[in-house]
Amino acid sequence: MNIHEYQAKALFEKYGVAVPKGMAARSPSEFDSALTALDHGPFVVKSQIHAGGRGKGTFTDGFKGGVKFAKSKAEAIEFANKMYGNTLVTAQTGPAGRKVQTIYFTKAADIAKEYYLAILLDRATSLPVIVASTEGGVEIEKVAHETPEKIFKILVDPAVGLQGYQARQLAFQLGLSGDHFKQAVKLITNLYRMAWETDASMVEVNPLITTTDGQVLALDAKVSFDDNALFRHPDIVALRDLNEEDPKEIEASKFSLSYIALDGNIACLVNGAGLAMSTMDIIKHFGGNPANFLDVGGGATKDQVQAAFRIILTDPNVKGIMVNIFGGIMDCNTIANGVVAATRELGLTIPLVVRLEGNNVAAGKQTLAESGLAIESADSMADAAQKIVRLVA
Ligand code: ADP
Ligand code: MG
Repeated sequence: MNIHEYQAKALFEKYGVAVPKGMAARSPSEFDSALTALDHGPFVVKSQIHAGGRGKGTFTDGFKGGVKFAKSKAEAIEFANKMYGNTLVTAQTGPAGRKVQTIYFTKAADIAKEYYLAILLDRATSLPVIVASTEGGVEIEKVAHETPEKIFKILVDPAVGLQGYQARQLAFQLGLSGDHFKQAVKLITNLYRMAWETDASMVEVNPLITTTDGQVLALDAKVSFDDNALFRHPDIVALRDLNEEDPKEIEASKFSLSYIALDGNIACLVNGAGLAMSTMDIIKHFGGNPANFLDVGGGATKDQVQAAFRIILTDPNVKGIMVNIFGGIMDCNTIANGVVAATRELGLTIPLVVRLEGNNVAAGKQTLAESGLAIESADSMADAAQKIVRLVA
């Protein structure tokens, strides 16, 4: 789960990570009071969307910059009005962009130098890793590619946590000294504690800055949390902004379905994540393109199968459906009944290929055959994939 910059910064403050003073406004009626609370300018006006690259982004009406410097309150309100309700396209949003529904006003900082700081999970060692660079404010992928020697990494042993010497080493590698050094050590230590205690899978501060008046501040904040740990963080779940999520994925989560929208035209309904991935692979193998990943889980009910069909069909790109079920715990006939009910309920008009195998498969096949519906049966995964690819061609 992702949160907005202004929410991430509130968490930062709670953990003693210094940020510039800021106020969020969820509607234009709040612009004035938010800016009044910040006292005097200059300000930076920031579009709140779950994507980076906002500063260099462009709105669909041609207005440039999702992050703008404003000398005065009047100018800040003018920019906020241009951003609010407008759609921002950045390198990370895809061409459709994201609609801005919250504006974050912050005090402008007098930047001396921009750095990069992130806390992630290192897949190779299965350890938390802190990544820092003297090259901040720019795309870190580019720095990693062109000047890898400017990127520093520290692996943390979770059993003992981040050690003081590790935070000091990182601050030293960033070339900081004196009071900046002390502040950076404190900031890194507190940020790690936040990431650990909140089960964050990623915390990215780009840029981390030193100011001309001697401060070290997190100027931007991007935080993602591990969905599997959200059950122990109700305060974080409360920060979820459904405006930022695909409505199909929200609907799927209500029915405990793992659904991820993709851009192909063959929808898949599968039980088990591994089988769902190999189903997408085999569709590709035979020249098709999957429209989604969908795992109905090991013990899906008829209701879940019906919900899955409804969600699949709200995607206008879908031209055919492939159901691939291996009944281990799952009863194939439960799936067959769900498929028949959904086909009837939705008046399905696009091709549907069903491959069932395993527990109670004979009854499942009989249910499909006796339904009188135009459901194509398949005997194997390859057979099903070839059939659906041919039918949508
Ligand atoms: P994004 O990464 O989405 O473009 P940032 O928050 O990093 O958004 O803002 C883009 C740039 O704007 C920063 O790299 C920084 O140079 C500048 N900026 C952002 N916030 C402030 C601020 N409070 N004071 C001064 N400059 C800022
Ligand atoms: Mg940034």
